[in-house]
Amino acid sequence: MKTGTICVQGGYTPGNGEPRQIPVIQSTTFKYATSEDMGKLFDLEAEGYFYSRLQNPTCDAVARKIAALEGGVAAMLTSSGQAATFYSIFNIASAGDHVVSSASIYGGSFNLFSVTMKRMGIEFTFVSPDCTGEELNAAFRPNTKAVFGETIANPALTVLDIEKFAEAAHSHGVPLIIDNTFATPVNCRPFEWGADIVTHSTTKYMDGHGAALGGCIVDSGNFDWSKYPERFPGLCTPDASYHGVTYTERFGKGAFITKATAQLMRDFGSMAAPQNAFLLNLGLESLHVRMKRHSENGLAVAKYLESHPKVAWVRFAGLEGDPYHALAEKYLPDGVCGVVSFGVKGGRSAAEAFMKRLKIAAIETHVADARTCCLHPASSTHRQMNDQELEAAGVSPDLVRYSCGLEDAEDLIADIAQALEGVEA
Ligand SMILES: *Cc1c(COP(=O)(O)O)cnc(C)c1O
Repeated sequence: MKTGTICVQGGYTPGNGEPRQIPVIQSTTFKYATSEDMGKLFDLEAEGYFYSRLQNPTCDAVARKIAALEGGVAAMLTSSGQAATFYSIFNIASAGDHVVSSASIYGGSFNLFSVTMKRMGIEFTFVSPDCTGEELNAAFRPNTKAVFGETIANPALTVLDIEKFAEAAHSHGVPLIIDNTFATPVNCRPFEWGADIVTHSTTKYMDGHGAALGGCIVDSGNFDWSKYPERFPGLCTPDASYHGVTYTERFGKGAFITKATAQLMRDFGSMAAPQNAFLLNLGLESLHVRMKRHSENGLAVAKYLESHPKVAWVRFAGLEGDPYHALAEKYLPDGVCGVVSFGVKGGRSAAEAFMKRLKIAAIETHVADARTCCLHPASSTHRQMNDQELEAAGVSPDLVRYSCGLEDAEDLIADIAQALEGVEA
């Protein structure tokens, strides 16, 4: 099936007389006739539901849809994108391990990696998304367990050369994890370019209506963990906390997601609520239609900004002059996304004055929503970073992140025009 059909119908096929819409199974627990039946579930010997901290039928149906959209073999929902990012790495890296990451990533991921996961004993080396193959290879260590990057980075809007990062990861025997939040599988499917694991903040375009926080991890099933049993002992040797289950042996291509569910979800409990999964699914049903409109609005606004004398610079990979245009043509041929970054002449204060004058676009921490919103990262999401870190992340002090919603492009442009008119360059 094509992407649009999966968006509408994937993940759930009701039988005769069953609900047309995915039912919300608002139940923390599930009943069994005997303790023996339940024991089999606890030993992962039988499949079934017993407690919604681990699995819930509503969440599973929506995860199946996202797995199908990405072309993966298994997926799990999490309560937020942050939880998805954390689990995707912590599932294969422990204290004493190392991860290579693009420096151009979401600010929340950068904090998670450089502060919190560092406290857990996992070290990250950040590389420029534009680094040469040599520079990339030099970042690896014997204890490297994964490579991480974003298809389209939030908010720097760099486009990752997924094939280059996948080749480097695979030549060192580790998987490439891609945060595909901004592109969504409608505009890019990273598995087709060699990525092994995909993560999402479904809070953004997938939900698309600013209604429910959420995340997702999808496994391509392509990375052969059992080829490197010493590097990935958690997947390739018996798990004492599950009666000696060896995930790769018992679950094959489902090993990564099963381990993340059985171990990490059990212990950390960042489960998506069934009601939120239901809302996410409503968003997914129109994702293919909305992404087209978001991408068109993004391009129209970027072109207008590019032509405006009060705008210092514009970053949108759909623009022909953009440094990432060639990569966008390769990885994002059907559209980029709705997010445009730019600088107003006059720097930080001009950016703030401009944003204050906007009438349609609201100032929000949010991005990738049906309603247009904008943000000044240097004074909000990225305020923990020093100037050097900001530069490495591709975030200049004057950067305005403008997220085109689903409104009419003409109205968005008129709003920007009136706001710029009042700004003194
Ligand atoms: C928002 C975002 C996240 C974090 O997701 P939450 O749902 O807010 O926890 C991760 N990655 C990217 C690219 C994001 O935009």
